[in-house]
Amino acid sequence: MTGEVVVLRLGHRKGRDPRITTHLGLVARTFGATKFVLAGDEDKELFDGLKSVCDNFGGALETEHVKSPMAWLKRFVRTGVAVHLTMYGIPFRQAIPSVRRDRPLVIVVGGAKVPRAVYEVCQYNVAVGSQPHSEVAALALFLDSWTQPPEVFEGARLTIHPHSRGKDVSHSDESE
Ligand code: SAM
Repeated sequence: MTGEVVVLRLGHRKGRDPRITTHLGLVARTFGATKFVLAGDEDKELFDGLKSVCDNFGGALETEHVKSPMAWLKRFVRTGVAVHLTMYGIPFRQAIPSVRRDRPLVIVVGGAKVPRAVYEVCQYNVAVGSQPHSEVAALALFLDSWTQPPEVFEGARLTIHPHSRGKDVSHSDESE
């Protein structure tokens, strides 16, 4: 069985990155992570936005801000596995079969400048294509290969039912 999946976002800049960091949190939630750890600037509005999505669409995404991501990472790898997403790493599909699944996993996503120490502390540095692109795309592709997304998001007020045309959404109070 695959262990807990955490996403660590490095170097968040409150004034510049709220949209992209929110998208990282939303992708984390949708594709099977249960915790989103933010380093860099504290950002209560960002966490509130993620909570509001969970309140409406269900599931629980724990959020935490850390002042010292390197200390947090060093503690994590004592028992867990850290995979750093970087275009300089080895291809992720090649790496995944050797990543142990019986330990908690943190997926580390960089910001504007990633310190060298991150490459050294993480057990894996993996690339989603050896070209620069988007942290959101890299996280989505990695998670899609790593784990099955949850089938049910507990406690949802709103549930989307796939439809080939238009929007089909039920509200939890409709079934009462
Ligand atoms: N200049 C930064 C550095 O020092 O590496 C990287 C900036 S990049 C826009 C932000 C983050 O997106 C990276 O740290 C990495 O996590 C992710 N990223 C971008 N391209 C990637 C790729 N091809 N494979 C994996 N992750 C990627």
